[in-house]
Amino acid sequence: MLKRLSQSFREMRTLGRGHPQFKKCQQHKGMTFDGIQIAIEPVCDRQKHHRNHPTYKIRLNGHWYRFALHRKIQGQIKQVQVTRDALGDVYITLTEDYSEVIPEPKTGKAEGFDMGIKDFLTTSDGERYTSPMFYKQNAKKLAKAQQAYSGKVKGSHNQQRARKNVARIHKKTANQRADHHWKLAIELCRDFDIMFFEDLNLRGMKRLWGKQVSDLSLGEFLQKLKHQSKKRIRSVLKIGRWSPTSKCCSVCNHKNDTLTLADRQWQCPKCDTHLDRDQNAAMNILKEGVASFGLGVVRPIVLFNRILGCSVESCSPILNSTNASA
Ligand SMILES: [Zn+2]
Repeated sequence: MLKRLSQSFREMRTLGRGHPQFKKCQQHKGMTFDGIQIAIEPVCDRQKHHRNHPTYKIRLNGHWYRFALHRKIQGQIKQVQVTRDALGDVYITLTEDYSEVIPEPKTGKAEGFDMGIKDFLTTSDGERYTSPMFYKQNAKKLAKAQQAYSGKVKGSHNQQRARKNVARIHKKTANQRADHHWKLAIELCRDFDIMFFEDLNLRGMKRLWGKQVSDLSLGEFLQKLKHQSKKRIRSVLKIGRWSPTSKCCSVCNHKNDTLTLADRQWQCPKCDTHLDRDQNAAMNILKEGVASFGLGVVRPIVLFNRILGCSVESCSPILNSTNASA
């Protein structure tokens, strides 16, 4: 707690704005404790489990608080964050100096991914992963709750209750989305050794497509995928933002400047290949990634085989042999 206070004093001083103002208890979203200050002990009594999680108690500022421990503590606790969400639920986040590693068996597969609005992810093999769009799913419920909230008397208990109903729907949406992201991230980490993504300009995309981009939460997904890839010893690599992945033909590198956003399919005027927009972009991302991260040169023939439906094995030896040096 003191740490937070001294930090805000320091920040105010650098800004030259005097000292921080007193904040009401309800305005605080959480606080941080040093790992050394706290003590954690298991609670041994009848109420030992809460939804199959063992009950523990933690000492913060000289008081003991009970909580349900969701994961085993395996290292030294460095920091404790206590946060309270809009529903009033309190969460304790323990940060420890230990990171779990679950190595997955090597698959010898590298894949490029194109992220999009219509299909969440498209792989260079043509597989598509769609997003359930949870915000859209819950939109009706949310609108109803928000309407109910707006009709309540300001400052009343009823208004408080209506506010919580709105917050509950938001929380549910976020939880559903996070759950879907984690499951997809683990699935991808099991299937592929190296994953290439495009470094997206998310803010620009938001301006173009608005809510849909926020509903997909591509940035959040990538963060989760990175976390899982670290845990499972996989690589997630990003290629530069400025390479024209959609407009170039992945077979002959011909750049089609007339391509618009509405064109989902197109015919390459130079080599006459029929291309799917997203898959073509994913293939270009794979090609660009393999080239720029020094994983050896993927010959066009390999990519051509992929288009004709050949197995990925034909390309994997090239990647595997250079894996060790990368
Ligand atoms: Zn072409």
